[in-house]
Amino acid sequence: QPHNLAGVEAAMAAFPDALQVACFDTAFHRSHPKVNDVFALPREYYDKGVRRYGFHGLSYDYISGELKRLAPLVHDGRVIVAHLGNGASMCGMIGGHSIASTMGFTALDGLPMGTRTGQIDPGVIFYLVQQEGKSIDEVRQLFYSKSGLLGLSGLSNDMRTLEAAGTVEANEAIDYFVFRIRRELGGLAAALGGLDALVFCGGIGENSRLIRERVCEGMGWIGLELDRERNARNDTLISTEMSRARILVVPTNEELVIARAGKRLLESAA
Ligand code: AMP
Repeated sequence: QPHNLAGVEAAMAAFPDALQVACFDTAFHRSHPKVNDVFALPREYYDKGVRRYGFHGLSYDYISGELKRLAPLVHDGRVIVAHLGNGASMCGMIGGHSIASTMGFTALDGLPMGTRTGQIDPGVIFYLVQQEGKSIDEVRQLFYSKSGLLGLSGLSNDMRTLEAAGTVEANEAIDYFVFRIRRELGGLAAALGGLDALVFCGGIGENSRLIRERVCEGMGWIGLELDRERNARNDTLISTEMSRARILVVPTNEELVIARAGKRLLESAA
């Protein structure tokens, strides 16, 4: 966490008397069952903290609260939230609590992102280091900053640019993004034992009709039926009346979750 701690230290130097509140993007996922918290490594590594933490927890916390307000029955059921922005992940919840998420020990796992690989066979790292002579720092840079939509398209990490480009490479990057979301959707639904609602959020989830349409295409087998007109209008509810599971678009607000947590803590300390 060096960059996070640097912020804490800078704030301590500038405002020595201020109370600092840290909000962890992993906290929401502490309700994961153990089976989804471990990697299949020798146990000593789990004890040292090598665990499947999950991220975007502030966003999922906000969405869980919004669902409780907007659609309490949906909130109480089996929900998959797709946070699709420059960073992207998905979370399976039951009763508003996280059961599984696509991100793991770091925010590199799971879905491909603007510049991050998402899930990748760790054997690729051995290959790059042993055969290509790359340093670990070079591999880290490659995986975090040069991959994902940017790497596959060779053009941009920005979904708007890729949707407008229409090149073979840009289309392949979009295809891969959609394919991985659909794979995770099936996997998370299996982990939840079914699906009552899919929620889209994040810059792409909240704005891209195309990605939402392509993710939901042919998903009737899992109970999802998109209403194209509602989707085109960016409505909150974008599934058809007949759809067994609901499809929703809910703008997320991570900053508000942080502000509320800070307020709660300050009030309890007063
Ligand atoms: P975020 O990190 O949540 O701010 O999301 C940023 C991503 O959302 C970028 O890839 C943007 O291109 C994408 N985005 C924002 N608006 C749109 C839009 N209208 N259509 C497609 N993608 C969009």
